Amino acid sequence: MWNDKRYHSLNYELKKIFGEKIIKLSIDGGFTCPTRDGTKDTKGCIFCSERGSGDFAGFSSTHIHEQMKEQINLLKNKWPNGKYIAYFQNFSNTYDDIERLRERYEKALEFENVVGLAIATRPDCISKEIVDYLSTLNKKTFLWVELGLQTSNDSTGEFIRRGYSSKDFDNAVDLLNNAQIRTVGHVILSLPGETKLDFENTIRQMTKKNIWGIKIHMLHILKNTDLYKYYLENPFPLLSQDEYVKLVCDLLEIIPNEVVIHRLTGDGPRELLHEPLWTGDKRRTLNSIDKELKKRNTLQGFRA
Ligand code: SF4
Repeated sequence: MWNDKRYHSLNYELKKIFGEKIIKLSIDGGFTCPTRDGTKDTKGCIFCSERGSGDFAGFSSTHIHEQMKEQINLLKNKWPNGKYIAYFQNFSNTYDDIERLRERYEKALEFENVVGLAIATRPDCISKEIVDYLSTLNKKTFLWVELGLQTSNDSTGEFIRRGYSSKDFDNAVDLLNNAQIRTVGHVILSLPGETKLDFENTIRQMTKKNIWGIKIHMLHILKNTDLYKYYLENPFPLLSQDEYVKLVCDLLEIIPNEVVIHRLTGDGPRELLHEPLWTGDKRRTLNSIDKELKKRNTLQGFRA
C-alpha cells in the first residue's frame, strides 16, 4: 500500500522525495511536432487538439514566468503553499535546437520554488545530443521525460498517425535509461480495434524497459480533431466507465510496484469533449478504481 492507495501514485512518490506537496505547473513552451510542421506530416496525431495535448497549459505567447504565475493563482485556494515542477506539456518539448531548449527550461528553473522539470516529448525527438544536454539538467534538478507510446501495436500507431514506431520508443527509453534520466510512458486505452491483449502488450513493453513511470488515460474524442470526423462517420465502440475501471485495475495488477503511476484518467476540456462524457467525472473514475482494487483485495504489482 502507498498511504491510502493501492497503487504507487506520483503524489506519494513526490511527497516521499520532497517531504511536502509538489504541484505541477503546465507550460506551453511554444514548440511544435515533426508531424505538424511538415517534416513527417502536417496533420498531427489523429486525436490531437489544436493545443497539442496541453489544453490546460498557459499560452506560448505569454512569458514562461507569467504562465507559471497564472497557474499558481488558479491553484492558490487549493494549495496556498507548495513547491513546483515546471511541466512542459504542449507539443514536443525537445523538438528544437539545444540553445532554445536551454533558454526555456532554464527560464522555468529560475522561478521561485521550482524543484524540478517534466518534459513531454516524442521518441523520435530524443537524440544522443538531446540526452547529453538533459543529463546536465538531470544533475542539477529533479527531471523526468514523458514519451508518448500510446500503443505498442504499430498498425494502430499508423492509424493514429503517430509517425514513429514502437521500436523508436524502445530506443529513446534506452538512451534515457543509459543516462539515468527518469522516463514516463503514455498509454491510451480504447483506440479503435484494440483489445485487452493490445493494452497488456503496451504496458509490458514499457515495464520490460524498467520505465520509471506510466500515465494511462482513456481515448478522448475531441471536437475539431480528425478523430472526431472519423468517429462520426465510423462510430467504434468506446469503453464504458465500468469497463475502463476494471481494465485499469487489471493493468495495475501487472505493473511492478516500483513503477510510479502518474495518471489513471485524463480530463479533456469540457467544451471540446464529444465522447466519452463520463471522462468528465474524473473523481468518480478514480474512486471507482480504489473501490474495485479494494473489492478484489489486490494492488499494483499483484500479478507482475
Ligand atoms: S505528438 Fe503529441 S502534440 Fe504532436 S501531434 Fe501527436 S499528440 Fe499532438
